[in-house]
Amino acid sequence: MILVNLLDSRSVAGDLGWVAYPRNGWEEIGEVDEDYAPIHTYQVCRVMEQNQNNWLHTNWILTEGAQRVFIELKFTLRDCNSLPGGVGTCKETFNMYYYETDEGDETDAEDGDEMMDAGGGGGGGGVGGVMEEVDRSIKESRYTKVDTIAADESFTELDLGDRVMKLNTEVRDLGPLTRKGFYLAFQDLGSCIALVSVRVFYKRCPLLVKSLAEFPDTIPGSEASQLVEVAGRCVNGSLALLDERPRMHCSAEGEWLVPIGKCVCQPGFEEINGSCQVCRAGFYRSVLQTSSCSKCPPHSRARQTGATACTCVEGYYKTDTDPPNMACTRPPSAPRNAISNVNETSVFLEWSVPLETGGRKDGRYNILCRRVLPEGGRGGGLEECGPNVRFLPRRMGLANTSVMVADLQSHTNYSFLLEAVNGVSELAGGHSRQYVSLNVTTNQAAPSPVSVVRKGHVGKNSIAVSWAEPDRPNGIILEYEIKYFEKEQDSSYTIIKSTKTEMVVDSLKPSSAYIFQVRARTSAGYGAFSRRFEFQTSPYLAASSERTQVSVVAVSITLALVLMALVAGFLLSGRRCGYSKAKQDPEEEKMHFHNGHIKFPGVRTYVDPHTYEDPNQAVHEFAQEIDVSFISIERVIGAGEFGEVCSGPLRLPGKREIQVAIKTLKAGYTEQQRRDFLWEASIMGQFDHPNIIHLEGVVTKSKPVMIITEYMENGSLDTFLKKNDAQFTVIQLVGMLRGIASGMRYLSDMGYVHRDLAARNILVNSNLVCKVSDFGLSRVLEDDPEAAYTTRGGKIPIRWTAPEAIAYRKFTSASDVWSYGIVMWEVMSYGERPYWEMSNQDVIKAVEESYRLPGPMDCPAALYHLMMDCWQRERSSRPKFEEIVCLLDKLIRNPSSLKTLLNSSHRVSNLLVEHASVEVAISTSLTLSQTVGEWLDSIKMGRYTELFTEGGYSSLDTVAQMTSEDVRRVGVNLAGHQKKIINGIQEMRVHLINSVPI
Ligand code: AMP
Repeated sequence: MILVNLLDSRSVAGDLGWVAYPRNGWEEIGEVDEDYAPIHTYQVCRVMEQNQNNWLHTNWILTEGAQRVFIELKFTLRDCNSLPGGVGTCKETFNMYYYETDEGDETDAEDGDEMMDAGGGGGGGGVGGVMEEVDRSIKESRYTKVDTIAADESFTELDLGDRVMKLNTEVRDLGPLTRKGFYLAFQDLGSCIALVSVRVFYKRCPLLVKSLAEFPDTIPGSEASQLVEVAGRCVNGSLALLDERPRMHCSAEGEWLVPIGKCVCQPGFEEINGSCQVCRAGFYRSVLQTSSCSKCPPHSRARQTGATACTCVEGYYKTDTDPPNMACTRPPSAPRNAISNVNETSVFLEWSVPLETGGRKDGRYNILCRRVLPEGGRGGGLEECGPNVRFLPRRMGLANTSVMVADLQSHTNYSFLLEAVNGVSELAGGHSRQYVSLNVTTNQAAPSPVSVVRKGHVGKNSIAVSWAEPDRPNGIILEYEIKYFEKEQDSSYTIIKSTKTEMVVDSLKPSSAYIFQVRARTSAGYGAFSRRFEFQTSPYLAASSERTQVSVVAVSITLALVLMALVAGFLLSGRRCGYSKAKQDPEEEKMHFHNGHIKFPGVRTYVDPHTYEDPNQAVHEFAQEIDVSFISIERVIGAGEFGEVCSGPLRLPGKREIQVAIKTLKAGYTEQQRRDFLWEASIMGQFDHPNIIHLEGVVTKSKPVMIITEYMENGSLDTFLKKNDAQFTVIQLVGMLRGIASGMRYLSDMGYVHRDLAARNILVNSNLVCKVSDFGLSRVLEDDPEAAYTTRGGKIPIRWTAPEAIAYRKFTSASDVWSYGIVMWEVMSYGERPYWEMSNQDVIKAVEESYRLPGPMDCPAALYHLMMDCWQRERSSRPKFEEIVCLLDKLIRNPSSLKTLLNSSHRVSNLLVEHASVEVAISTSLTLSQTVGEWLDSIKMGRYTELFTEGGYSSLDTVAQMTSEDVRRVGVNLAGHQKKIINGIQEMRVHLINSVPI
């Protein structure tokens, strides 16, 4: 704050020139202070006289632009009580007035003088006196009262006597002033007063430089509470930030208040002690928002002083959007630990973040997918994967470290390049890119669903349907399955197989809607069914409607007949599965019944490693060599023929760690033993099926030699079942059997005969998935002509082996089916030893004499019948694995079919059951109304009706007990027809069992 005096009576050296009137009122007393400087004191003390009105007014005081001024009065005032006798008129206050005017000319003063001269004559009176009064009142009326001033202190006689001067100081402010100047006046109405000094001043806000902004010397506003906003001016080469112009507020007290905004140094400069200084080398200041120069961030530099930015050192980059204080960064290194997980034609790729992120957080991953062209193909190299391959969530700009690549081609090699990129990869250019590559081979995949099924010619009992090959066959289509059923009757459906893409479905009801679905099968299995297509047969013809009516009348005659018709209808409804029954045109039928081992083009065939001269070559053809350092042996889990079986983790580079079983070849082996040991790997390595134990690889380059397979947590099936006696549901057991049958179907399709199928050679994983293992024995038996006759060490699994294999080493898939029947029995009896403690010789004899194992406890009849069929003496009468899988699937789909258990006569625990005496449990309350002839008609074998009747098979229950030999005996000579009838009989058994109330 600056105080500016406009008037200070003390500092005026000469005459003050103030005017008093009347002249005998205020009078100036010329005094000097101790320094002999004049003191202009005005006093008046006419307390004894009435009607005092004494004025003293200053000369014109220039405001200098101030709108508010302060007046400081110093005075002494006499206490009226101290005055002898003058109390009546004595006053202790005086008034202060002011009068604003732009012109402080002499007139006023002269007027005053005149006034004073005029009034000089004392008390007044006469004409002149009146004029004077009028003039005086006009002049006084120009004045505005500021205040009545009283003393804080007054002095008494005593005080005077003590020579103590009680000086009062009063300050009043005045405003708003609008003129150039003003007069002050003091009015005394009869007090005893001495005005020692009068000071008039105003306050200013002084020039101020703050935050590089200069605020000029400023006169405050007119109101006491007013703040005058003043804009600052940026100095020293500084700049005002946009919207932050510097401002300050000047208060009435002359103080700067409320600073707003600021000035800052230009980029490249910083504020030091209120001035802008250039940034040193190595430092920069880029934006106005920061106040001081900063050291260049890592990997950047500023060679010159006054830098507004630092430049990145070589190999480091900065994007336009990177903040100036961010370090220069570089592209990331390649992703690490990339692994792939192939699931059919999808690949799940996973990797770890790069070791070097380049200093950025905006890292992303891109995938480059290329198909490896088969050798000799055009270009012989790589081809972009194209738009049909799907990447989930996307191919480029992946934030996570995994991606799912779907819809690849099956059995195809792919090369994936995984690249990590970040915000500066583009700036760094292509040469900076680092990839990790992964080579992946897709597996087989089931075909995609058939998309459209079309209707062709429609008859009253038939509909021709056709369909197109699936969009993605993923292999060679071996056959199609056509599933159909009457609309809203989907619990009873028929399945027909065909190798063609069209067929005529007959034996349909007239005027009825049917639902059709088609699916394709390749060596990888079935694809999903197409969606449902609904087609309608043509309406009745008159003749047939008559017939129907007749039959309706007949049906209504007796309830029993209706029941029988229902059973017959069920039989005829055509729920068909390869094994149980089929109703197809001759070609389809031929496919169905004769293709068990037909090699369709594209189905791989098992290669006997024996055909290789060098067994090592065979091993390495089919098995991958694994570096022993990738394997850790942790536990011994069993004893194999050649050495211990252990388990532990396998960590192949680029692959997820998995648990494996490690079969070792014990030390001191002969070359022959080594060959035999690795034989199993050469065989196993050729298989790729979920129910065949999977070979991971072999270790042959170091000792001990090892075979590495997937680890099966629950070990071998026989021990597992014994440990968990009666713990599983029938459906779980059938599920296990289904898995084994599926594995065996695969092996038989490959042309491989196992020869040692037994529960001990099935392994079980933690999900109860059963897998066929132990592929060594076939060679041992083949090589050793004595083997069949040897009783040593269980090498010849007599109890599991079909009679023809024991008798003359006729090992076929049909003999594997026999063994499968024994496995079924083992499973259903929770690991019971087949034929218990009977000797091998007794077993051979009993089987020769047509005795068979009795049904295990609580075994569903349908399963026991399947076992018995597997144990048909005539090997061609045994079901194929394909048919077994199909029947088991059917039982699983229809669990109520498993509810019928064998009656006790088939469960005699220590007696074998005569094969021919196995009866089908038919409820006596139900007799079949259908004749044998009708039944034969329904399977298009009506031509044999007479032969059946002549052979003594005149009722369905006698037919249900026929064996294939019986069928041949009655005179059915054609193999296809024998099969059709046998299958019909087997399905009849299943249905009869299903229809028995439990
Ligand atoms: P093997 O020589 O194949 O009969 O194996 C001997 C025993 O080792 C088997 O009975 C199993 O208990 C155990 N074993 C063999 N392979 C595996 C495997 N892949 N997973 C778990 N256990 C196995």
